[in-house]
Amino acid sequence: MKRVFAAFRDLGQEDFRALASVEAGLRRREFVPKEDLLKYLRSDLPDLDYRLARLDRLSMIQSRGTPYKGYRLLPRAYDFLALNVLVQRERIESIGDKIAVGKESEIYEALGTGGQRFVIKFHRLGMTSFHRAANVRGYIGDRRHISWIYAARLAAEREYEALTRLAGQVPVPKPIDHNRNAVLMERFDGAELAQSEVARPHKLLEAILSSARRSREIGIIHGDLSEYNVLVNEDGFVVIDWPQWVDASHPQAEALFQRDLSNILKFFEKKYGIRARATKWGA
Ligand code: ADP
Ligand code: MN
Repeated sequence: MKRVFAAFRDLGQEDFRALASVEAGLRRREFVPKEDLLKYLRSDLPDLDYRLARLDRLSMIQSRGTPYKGYRLLPRAYDFLALNVLVQRERIESIGDKIAVGKESEIYEALGTGGQRFVIKFHRLGMTSFHRAANVRGYIGDRRHISWIYAARLAAEREYEALTRLAGQVPVPKPIDHNRNAVLMERFDGAELAQSEVARPHKLLEAILSSARRSREIGIIHGDLSEYNVLVNEDGFVVIDWPQWVDASHPQAEALFQRDLSNILKFFEKKYGIRARATKWGA
């Protein structure tokens, strides 16, 4: 495990139990009162104090003194709770380098217990600027009061659902598992379309557009399709980054679908001089 995850190794199952109790309490409160933790964990005060001091030292939790003594999780603790489940389920053996970091996710290499090359995407939606994200991204709906925990978990669930429904029919990374804000999927050995030199751009353009049409038939519109969310290599491509997908019956679906196509068409026109009108391909 790499440095960020060194702390993960220091955590035992008692620590995870305490973190999960803080997590459970956060469903009702912004900070979880100490009395609630005593109840959830059925531990005595000295044990709880020891546990909380330890988790605080490991930067897993934060506390507040007024109006009552309360605790909440730090984002890394939420990652670790998810990671712990994936390790317990024997999905992964280890986690490696950070591959990418965006405003709304962090992506790491991981190895499966059989040596498979995976990536783990930790969703970060709402962890930094929740309100902005909630406004920009439709999938939070009306639940503005929900915490970043809920937002990040929902994003992961949505992404996993799309990958599961599309896998085998549309080129996407094969989903392996998910928990909380984490999605585990196969690693595609390639680079973003935006940064690649493609040998046969016409053929690739056709294939990407037809994958978008195929996923619409399955009922899923990507909603953020662009040269940054397509990974390519010499053998093919995958479309990634699905948390914001919308159902094909959504009132905005057609507009989003056309925008997806036109993002791709514009890119191929600019970089490869391929001229095509979105409407011709969209029908
Ligand atoms: P973001 O929301 O941060 O844009 P993405 O899902 O687009 O998240 O992933 C960001 C980057 O992580 C991608 O551009 C790519 O470099 C890498 N990545 C994501 N998924 C995979 C994957 N399955 N295999 C290989 N690299 C991936
Ligand atoms: Mn992306």
